[in-house]
Amino acid sequence: MRTAMRAEVESIVEAVRKHHELHRNALPLIASENITSNTVRTLLASDLSHRYAEGDVGSRFYQGCEYIDRIEAKAIGYAKELFDAEHVNVKPVSGVTANIAALFALTSPRDRMMALTIPDGGHISHSKYSIPGMRDLLLETFPFDIKEMNIDTAKMVDALKQKKPSLILFGGSLFLFPHPVSEAREIADEIGAKIVYDASHVLGLIAGKQFQDPLREGADVIAGSTHKTFPGPQGAILICKDEIKEKIDQAVFPGTVSNHHLHHVAGLAVTLAEMLQFGDAYAVQMVRNAKILAECLYELGFDVLCEHKGFTESHQIAVNVIEYGGGAAVAEKLECAGIILNKNLLPSDKDPANPTGIRLGVQELTRIRMKESEMKEIASLIERVVTAEADADVIKVKEEVLELRKGFQDVDYCFDGKDAYNFPELRIR
Ligand SMILES: *Cc1c(COP(=O)(O)O)cnc(C)c1O
Repeated sequence: MRTAMRAEVESIVEAVRKHHELHRNALPLIASENITSNTVRTLLASDLSHRYAEGDVGSRFYQGCEYIDRIEAKAIGYAKELFDAEHVNVKPVSGVTANIAALFALTSPRDRMMALTIPDGGHISHSKYSIPGMRDLLLETFPFDIKEMNIDTAKMVDALKQKKPSLILFGGSLFLFPHPVSEAREIADEIGAKIVYDASHVLGLIAGKQFQDPLREGADVIAGSTHKTFPGPQGAILICKDEIKEKIDQAVFPGTVSNHHLHHVAGLAVTLAEMLQFGDAYAVQMVRNAKILAECLYELGFDVLCEHKGFTESHQIAVNVIEYGGGAAVAEKLECAGIILNKNLLPSDKDPANPTGIRLGVQELTRIRMKESEMKEIASLIERVVTAEADADVIKVKEEVLELRKGFQDVDYCFDGKDAYNFPELRIR
């Protein structure tokens, strides 16, 4: 038995090694993922992952938190500076728990809220299957303009006046253009509504001053994952005005986490420092890469959405691939060539089980230093796979993907030097 279990452990370690190899040799285009710096990766394996620190900086329920306090205070300070914010909470362990905290803090059961539907880009946590259902909220959905791939602002204004929701939730998972936050703010004041902006996808763009500035446009709260365009460890952040900070903080602790993940807070503090230093350059390049990849795919004959608006203003692009068999078939075929992305519902979809689209995000490619010329090459690789008739053609592209990745193994926009921050002492107990 003992030897058998030892072999099991080895097989798990081996699977992780193979996973690393797979991703090191592939083109990562999943719009919700990113890669952290080596410094952050090292901190994620530190002793902090073993510890408890319920409570706040300076008032913990446990002893032994001297350095944890120092780390968490730095994360909060950097985040306030980066987002020019009054109050920040770095404890939510994921984007969904941040949304739970924000929505539970600001609503009562039977309140009305307005959010996007899933095909229009809303996240599952905005739907009746998740938080609005759990909280027993009456869910209204934003009027959506399919051609513009955005909330229809004029119709939204009418709908807000008519339905009078007490909570307006912006943000989404298919998120090409900034949402009309300032237009909603005017009505929100009339009807006494709060505005939550779910920045899970676009937090890194907001940090880099691209996309939009939800706090200045009138959002009461920003909730967002810290591992999508924001290139940090898995987790989330809540950013709000001072006037609601107690409600938000209580909804996080003790509402939705007891112990937060301290190793992630250390990783987040370092990522915030990276973004203070390099965030603007990273965000500018990310949008540039998205636009050029979209344009190249369009020129190769793909039905990339919103050509009339320059395709995108975020890290994402959306492509209708129904003529190539739909999102699932195309995503699977691309995976065979080491091009990793996902099938995605588009607003025009009739069958939720069969998305016609694919979604591509360039944040990770940007982080590993890829620029315009690589985007052109990747568009052509994608086209060759999607139109390939023989398996051999797909395998040929896979070899070219491997060759391309050889020159792009390091993470940019961070403080990783050649041998900086190696922290060998963290690897031994
Ligand atoms: C990814 C996502 C979330 C959930 O984030 P997790 O960190 O996976 O829990 C919430 N909202 C939106 C809009 C997202 O895209």
